[in-house]
Amino acid sequence: MNPKRSAWSLEMGSIASIPVRVHVTFLFLLVWLAFGTDAPSPMREAGFVILVFTCVLAHELSHALMAKRFGIQTKEITLYPFGGIASIMAQPSPKGELFISIVGPITNLIIAAGLYPFTDIGALTNKDLSTFTLVDRLFITNVGLALFNLLPALPMDGGRVARAILSLLNVKQPTRVAARLSQGICLIMGVAALALEQPMLLIIAFIIFFGAVQEYVRAEARIVAVAFTVRDAMIPRARLETFTHGTTVSKALRIALTSLQPLYPIMHGERVIGIIHRDDILEHAATQPDEYLGSLTLQEVPTIDVEAPLSAAFTTLEETGTPVLIVTHNGEFIGLLVHDRLSDFLLLQGLRDKRSKDNDAEWSTPL
Ligand SMILES: [Zn+2]
Repeated sequence: MNPKRSAWSLEMGSIASIPVRVHVTFLFLLVWLAFGTDAPSPMREAGFVILVFTCVLAHELSHALMAKRFGIQTKEITLYPFGGIASIMAQPSPKGELFISIVGPITNLIIAAGLYPFTDIGALTNKDLSTFTLVDRLFITNVGLALFNLLPALPMDGGRVARAILSLLNVKQPTRVAARLSQGICLIMGVAALALEQPMLLIIAFIIFFGAVQEYVRAEARIVAVAFTVRDAMIPRARLETFTHGTTVSKALRIALTSLQPLYPIMHGERVIGIIHRDDILEHAATQPDEYLGSLTLQEVPTIDVEAPLSAAFTTLEETGTPVLIVTHNGEFIGLLVHDRLSDFLLLQGLRDKRSKDNDAEWSTPL
């Protein structure tokens, strides 16, 4: 089964057992710098790009190491042209978020301070790029990375710092306030990008805008999830198609082709031994149609009790990166909790909540 992967990013390896991924827009930037500009020495450009890459990585590693100090692991690091994102596996306390976020830009400022004695500040003031040395450009890049990441817009470090400060000041719904602030900043960036005819800035404004929306939706979902248990959002066993471990791939395919269900539990007696994705059935059907489902390597799926709060299910889904949880009652399989469906469920409940609150307000308005 394929765990959910962020589209548009490629895995390049790992450092300190943290997978490092690179967003395609970063690669576009590399290609543009190396071939798109009329620089006299493409090799020097490539070297510069690799050094920038290293600075961005140092920035992200500093987040990961600070998170570790607060007892939080990092799932992966994704590098974008304007910085990166270290996906830490739990929501830190406001104080933790403040420290974890601010250390990234500080790392770039420390690098810039180290380069300062070797930087020709005079050359930086005249705008002729060809007179810049490699050190000059690295200095400017690190100052730029620090300032850019300090923009008070989610999901940038500055946005997180702003949210942490709002929390520490006891402002209600700090994520909502921080997300509004982000949208305002993206709007200003968008207008500036159009006025200055900077398409790259416009793209960045869009990426940040959707990042802020995502951050906001996730925070809202967590608030709504507190009021429900797993039972409210699960798909009951009676409504699920299941396969026994002795079912052949070709037989499973015939059933999968006439069903809309994306994931199928594989049963051994009353026990779920794994979950198979529809796409994986299709893939195996081409190469090993007579194989039994039970003999395929199935990813183990975490279980959750039916009475557990939905917010706990949310945490497990996000921390394990699995698209589904097996729901049990007294250890017995009674249904599935599917991540995508859970988001839909919470969105619906959130809207319903909002509507009933609006109605209450209407009824309670004194005439
Ligand atoms: Zn950062």
